[in-house]
Amino acid sequence: MAAKMGRAMPLALLLKKELSSEKIENPDIVFGQASQTKKGEDFTFLKVECARMPGDGVATFSVFALFDGHNGSGAAIYSKENLLNNILCAIPSNLNRDEWLAALPRALVAGFVKTDKDFQTKAHSSGTTVTFVIIDGWVITVASVGDSRCVLESAEGSIYPLSADHRLDVNEEEVERITASGGEVGRLNVVGGAEIGPLRCWPGGLCLSRSIGDMDVGEFIVPVPHVKQVKISTAGGRLIISSDGVWDALSFEMAFNCCRGMTADAAAMQIVKEAVQVKGLRDDTTCIVVDMIPPEKLTPSQPTPPPKKQGMGVFTKMFRKKATEPSCQSDKECPEHDVVEELFEEGSASLAERLEADYPIRNMFKLFICAVCQVEMQPGEGISVHSDTSQPGRLRPWDGPFLCESCQEKKEAMEGKRHSRDSSSRKSSGSE
Ligand SMILES: [Zn+2]
Repeated sequence: MAAKMGRAMPLALLLKKELSSEKIENPDIVFGQASQTKKGEDFTFLKVECARMPGDGVATFSVFALFDGHNGSGAAIYSKENLLNNILCAIPSNLNRDEWLAALPRALVAGFVKTDKDFQTKAHSSGTTVTFVIIDGWVITVASVGDSRCVLESAEGSIYPLSADHRLDVNEEEVERITASGGEVGRLNVVGGAEIGPLRCWPGGLCLSRSIGDMDVGEFIVPVPHVKQVKISTAGGRLIISSDGVWDALSFEMAFNCCRGMTADAAAMQIVKEAVQVKGLRDDTTCIVVDMIPPEKLTPSQPTPPPKKQGMGVFTKMFRKKATEPSCQSDKECPEHDVVEELFEEGSASLAERLEADYPIRNMFKLFICAVCQVEMQPGEGISVHSDTSQPGRLRPWDGPFLCESCQEKKEAMEGKRHSRDSSSRKSSGSE
């Protein structure tokens, strides 16, 4: 690829031009939230104009997060206060925008696991779902554990779920993983032997397979998030981020339809109102609505929600998978089309799979820093994420990324290979 040798432009001017054009091309973000409280365990984190690099006010991104706590609000509050920082600390410095976006999926995994690990030392038994949305330009990255959901409606009217549902009732793969790691999954037994209620994981009785916190449940309830990254067209779109209180009452389509034409603020209120009307206020019911609007469409008095083509409510479960070799190198070479492009999706609970990345992403991360907690290590001190103490030598123990000893213990506990938490909370300790 030959570089264009035009007239020399001063670097500072060139950078300024680049940055200002990036700013102009970004969508305007308009958001609103609403909540009706039963237990007071739902928390939100809404922040626009976060600097991608410290002190850089031009390259910014927005964060919208929802934490639905259970058994108390400790884990939800702790995650709200620490998760973003833990994620940002796991992103190498001095990356350009494309590299930053490419490094996000691995940094999100590291940030979630570090937050869970740090919270364990506080000895709280509460837990929380997390739906964590980062919007950078037209790229949306969503990391999720638990059963709060983030759903996108594109400008052309298609609906895309961007988060996973980690309820044991709907996720057979997760039931298999937990059973293989030594957990028991079943329904509540009442007198007479009848089984009632949703599938739960024992000990603890949690209906979710992933969360942050929950140290009284087995460590196979992991904090490794499902991560999905998409790029929407410059026609924009609307996101709904809601706790299960909304989704127990409304389908994705019902949620988008009930607030069509409303501003983000009014839409969030309407969705909560509809959900409570259908099911009553049985749980905390929280909703965040985010509109990504092409800049020229925004007028201060009346933000325009994304238009809807009549009868187009196509429920799109599967995205077109993007090949590993992208066909176009930059936005400018891609023709503009009105589709949602999937950049990344991975939901595996295995840290070895999630921290590994292909070149060139692999080379963005420093080798002698713990891939989870970011502590510096001496060469030879770190333990490869591919090492397997139960089957030594089978994989590639010389290969990075590397973990510090304490994060390696956490990894093995998550895989059911050791118990780093108080073993008295478990029914048996026969696996080792
Ligand atoms: Zn570590």
